[in-house]
Amino acid sequence: MLHFDAQRADAEGLLLVVFTTVSSSSESTGSGASQTFSRLKPLRVWMATARQNLGAFGEERVVKQCSCPRCKRMRTLVRLPTNFKCADVICDFCGYLAQVKAATVKDISVVPAQVMGAAWGPQRERMEAAIYFPLFLVLATVEPVTHAIYYLSADLQAPAMFKPRNPLSTTARRAGWTGFHYDLRAVRAAFVRLI
Ligand SMILES: [Zn+2]
Repeated sequence: MLHFDAQRADAEGLLLVVFTTVSSSSESTGSGASQTFSRLKPLRVWMATARQNLGAFGEERVVKQCSCPRCKRMRTLVRLPTNFKCADVICDFCGYLAQVKAATVKDISVVPAQVMGAAWGPQRERMEAAIYFPLFLVLATVEPVTHAIYYLSADLQAPAMFKPRNPLSTTARRAGWTGFHYDLRAVRAAFVRLI
């Protein structure tokens, strides 16, 4: 039976998505977690790809299912290229920009306390300039695949919801790189569920 496990423990800040085959008995006892850790390194490249796939999944769900929050038109949100830094989707009618964050969760009806973010430097600089982008949060389960889409407008965001993480160790592939995570505890109630 295919067993799904998502971990955020990796020093490089990757969302680790690990599929392991376990028997139905070990699945019920949760022993899949120890198997996951013993198999982390060989799966690193594959997991980075899985994270990108999760991000793409989130953006696709948003552009297919959500109307533009500003002009209210359907099917006008389009994905921006991966190397476009400040936003993930744009409305090709009114020019509205938004970020999309996708995360795997156990229960899509609950906004998690914490979600992995991206690079801290650009985020810090934007906050210093008082620039925030609206956020679509796509929560997904994998077995079976279900998802929910939440929305947090830019004016409800504050510096406290962006927390820097420790810089990567000198032995990491991107040594010194610093990421951040979203601390969503204070803004949970402000999220609007769209889907
Ligand atoms: Zn629009």
